[in-house]
Amino acid sequence: MRETRSFDQDQTPRPPAAAGFFSGVHREIWDDADSLLHTKPKEPQRMSESSSRQIVIFDTTLRDGEQSPGASMNLYEKMEVAQALVELGVDVIEAGFPIASPGDFNAVREIAKTVRGSVICGLARCRPEDIDRAWEAVKYAEQPRIHVFLATSAIHREHKLKMDKAEIVQRAVEGVKRAVDYCPDVEFSPEDAVRTEIDFLCQVVEAAIDVGATTVNIPDTVGYATPAHMRRVIEILRNRVPNIDRAVISVHCHNDLGMAVANSLAAVEAGAGQVECTVNGIGERAGNCSLEEIVMALKTRNDFYHAHTRVVSQRIVPTSRLVATVTGIQVQRNKAIVGQNAFAHEAGIHQDGMLKERTTYEIMRPEDVGLTMSDLVLGKHSGRAALADRAKALGYRLTGEQLNLVFDEFKELADKKKEIYDGDIAALIEQQIHGVSELWSLESYQVTSGTGKVPEVTLSVRRGSEVLSSHKVCGDGPVDAVFLAIEELTGISVVCRDFRVHSVTVGKDAQGEVMVQLEYQGELYRGHGVSTDSIEASAKAFLNAINRIASVGNGSQQPSKIR
Ligand SMILES: [Zn+2]
Repeated sequence: MRETRSFDQDQTPRPPAAAGFFSGVHREIWDDADSLLHTKPKEPQRMSESSSRQIVIFDTTLRDGEQSPGASMNLYEKMEVAQALVELGVDVIEAGFPIASPGDFNAVREIAKTVRGSVICGLARCRPEDIDRAWEAVKYAEQPRIHVFLATSAIHREHKLKMDKAEIVQRAVEGVKRAVDYCPDVEFSPEDAVRTEIDFLCQVVEAAIDVGATTVNIPDTVGYATPAHMRRVIEILRNRVPNIDRAVISVHCHNDLGMAVANSLAAVEAGAGQVECTVNGIGERAGNCSLEEIVMALKTRNDFYHAHTRVVSQRIVPTSRLVATVTGIQVQRNKAIVGQNAFAHEAGIHQDGMLKERTTYEIMRPEDVGLTMSDLVLGKHSGRAALADRAKALGYRLTGEQLNLVFDEFKELADKKKEIYDGDIAALIEQQIHGVSELWSLESYQVTSGTGKVPEVTLSVRRGSEVLSSHKVCGDGPVDAVFLAIEELTGISVVCRDFRVHSVTVGKDAQGEVMVQLEYQGELYRGHGVSTDSIEASAKAFLNAINRIASVGNGSQQPSKIR
């Protein structure tokens, strides 16, 4: 047998995060590890019926989530999301894959330098250069973690890696050792674990723990598992891997069959202590386990799972909204927890029951997930303090300068529209915090269009102190004419891949929110604009995307898939 480490409480190679979140049963696992190693510790990692163990929430919105088509974020947006995740109370933030690109590296390093309150994790393949680069980025964190992964399934071994089992084990051991030399908090993932032969999976996991992995993550990389299957895998690991109690078992489930949350819950039931998830369930293909669903399932069914998380559930809706705006991936209406209809009771018989006693048809209260029920209306006479108050309630943190800018826009909006709703305020703020450095801004425009007339526009944009004006530009429609005029003035010619407009709130005077996706030199760029005038909103969205293109050209950002 391999050498046994001393699990004396003081010498336990506990990850630095331990003091922060290993408070429930995880603490007990570490403290009792010695006895567990010498006895048969095969009861689930669960405390008595009356107490509840803490499940570590590992958020990968910034890494796996960002891999969703169209979801790439710029540095500023990543920092906003990271800060929101800390306030949400996630234990670990996987901030990116540092070796993937200089942009990824910078984002992970900046988050590690500035964000406090959660473990900051960087992903690495089992290669020395990857691990070195990950450490370079996360080393500034208060609590750094390196996450090393290596595929273990036969299909990956044969077709992707062309390595046999012994080589895989050796590579995994070398990778974990290298990471442990840098950092005591090391996570190891056998990629495609769920399709790996179970005996081999046990062997790799044991070897990784033996050289110091403090978390072993079991990914269902392709979304193939079912709840019963997942539960079985975790149970087998807990029963067969002799040193399993020296690490936290984690799961990372994909939603290809729509079971990512169910599979994660099954793993928790079998004794997993960490769940990897993303806000709104975004991620590769059909996405990852959704953070809000797993958290609320554990909270609502604590009676069954006897497990809880550190997540501040009231921050769920504001964080969901932020991630939706920043990534451009809107949440479907009937999405559990955060969808627009999640707490709407339409059926008459349900409404009758609700009025008599809420719990007849409601298992969670909307306020528990941060859904503000009172859509408080602000207006022309509302002051800065009222706006600041509303912004805070909606989940935004604004600096004094940002508040001033939003307040100016708010006053302008209040002149155009009597009642200002939460949706309006959120749209104004999001427009502000989205602000990539505005090289060009809209100065003015005039459009003429009508039945049987060719739409024409004259438009001016500002660049620093300079104002550039177009001649009359014709287009297939007024929006097309505006886009053509902006292309002519900025000299950036693009292909419009997506154009969407929707109203932010109710009423005829509601603000329109426009999202565009532009293609420029093979890369996609997002833009976002809001106004009570939908043509103006379109112009702002188009310019927002053009500014992103320009900022890449300036070298202030690294191009990757989609901006
Ligand atoms: Zn994944």
